[in-house]
Amino acid sequence: MSYIIEGRTGNWEMVIGLEIHAQVISNSKLFSGSPTDFGADPNSQVSFVDAAMPGMLPVLNKKCVEQAVKTGLGLNAQINLYSAFDRKNYFYADLPQGYQISQLYHPIVGNGKIEIDLEDGTTKFIGIERIHLEQDAGKSVHDQHPTKTYVDLNRSGIALMEIVSDPDLRSADEVAAYIRKIRTILRYLGTCDGNMDEGSMRCDVNVSVRRPGEEFGTRCEIKNVNSVRFASQAIAYEAARQVEILEDGGTIKQETRLFDANKMETRSMRSKEEAHDYRYFPDPDLPPLILEQSYVDAIKANMPELPDEKKARFIKDYGLKAYDASVLVADQARAHYFEEVAKNCKDPKLATTWVSVELFGALNKSGKTIEDSPVSSDYLVELIALIEDNTISGRIAKDVFAEMIESGKKPGDIVEEKGLKQITDSSSLDPIIDQILSDNTDKVEEYKSGKDKLFGFFVGQVMKQTGGKANPKMVNDRLKEKLQ
Ligand code: ADP
Ligand code: MG
Repeated sequence: MSYIIEGRTGNWEMVIGLEIHAQVISNSKLFSGSPTDFGADPNSQVSFVDAAMPGMLPVLNKKCVEQAVKTGLGLNAQINLYSAFDRKNYFYADLPQGYQISQLYHPIVGNGKIEIDLEDGTTKFIGIERIHLEQDAGKSVHDQHPTKTYVDLNRSGIALMEIVSDPDLRSADEVAAYIRKIRTILRYLGTCDGNMDEGSMRCDVNVSVRRPGEEFGTRCEIKNVNSVRFASQAIAYEAARQVEILEDGGTIKQETRLFDANKMETRSMRSKEEAHDYRYFPDPDLPPLILEQSYVDAIKANMPELPDEKKARFIKDYGLKAYDASVLVADQARAHYFEEVAKNCKDPKLATTWVSVELFGALNKSGKTIEDSPVSSDYLVELIALIEDNTISGRIAKDVFAEMIESGKKPGDIVEEKGLKQITDSSSLDPIIDQILSDNTDKVEEYKSGKDKLFGFFVGQVMKQTGGKANPKMVNDRLKEKLQ
């Protein structure tokens, strides 16, 4: 798929690369034993290391290393057995050390790639340049006092993975698919919860534009975007802004910008000339991190099934379409639910419709998640079995399902209580059909003289008389025979 921005002076293409900051799932911080729970009272999760008290030394958290390696493997990336920590120096009130410990020169994870799923059913590989481990800073709170700023150090020292993509993305849609895919993989791996609204995943979006086929243009970096929607909006605005400048004969200056979601625009934060000189240097308090290949292999041996593998399996085992499968596996709980139903039904196509269309539709409508679905996978299997063994028709099944969503009752009980069993014996059906035909002799004549369309009228009458319970195939067969 190609994405083109039509300008006044011809076509343009966007080029985008992302830096995603993903908070590592770990009970304690990257270099201290303090807890990492979200929403705790301000400054209640701060050790002497996190507050940068003199003489405190960082101790690397094994769990965070394991999580970074796992993430690297999940993104099909090179794991670097040798990596090292560097100090990135800058001053900020919520950065008590005066520097952030990061990995500039020797990141723990090198080149990788992931496949993104686009809405037209195509896929595309996006390169991963690197993943490095780094500490988060604290938080400045500006809205609690008219003249003062408060500092909360709970986040100070929490482990982040910075996942840097190659500049392979070409549209806001691709960026959205990329962020979602990374989030899904991290969730499957259990290395980041991916909750963008709690700040556990945020991204810096680098955008430039060029004439198709030409060299990359100068980029601007939009900082700290915290939702997929904002990323799409920021990119659309930023690309249009750059095209306009270039078409007016101007040049883009490399700078850091902020996205203002209220005004839906990006604004300059600092230009390249004002950019920080971070004076990176190896952290003398931390020895290089050296891993054994056997350690990496052991983590690899315990990897869960990842979304792409699950997608391939769903396509093969249950005959799903590629894009439907990618939507389904994007949420682990939904994928699990689907599989519980599909593997217990005769016809996986029925399972797909009932889960993806009927159930998910009902959940979306009521704003519920799959975890609090009023219909368990067992009950849905039972409903589908009732259709498969002809106890009820697909039409009646929808009514039963609506009742299940309402009351949480067992489908068999609903069918029993409401007397919804399908009429499948001709001895019950024939008298009804005979009555209808004798009440409508004029129409029967018209039908016989060639007005085929009237067949639908007779079917409708039978269904009306039986409250929709007649087996549709049998109605057809019996009517055809009697109208001969
Ligand atoms: P820095 O270290 O200055 O942030 P990097 O070279 O590491 O710069 O790139 C950061 C991000 O910018 C990467 O995700 C990369 O893909 C992206 N990027 C690099 N060049 C461009 C460009 N010309 N247009 C858009 N994105 C780019
Ligand atoms: Mg950067």
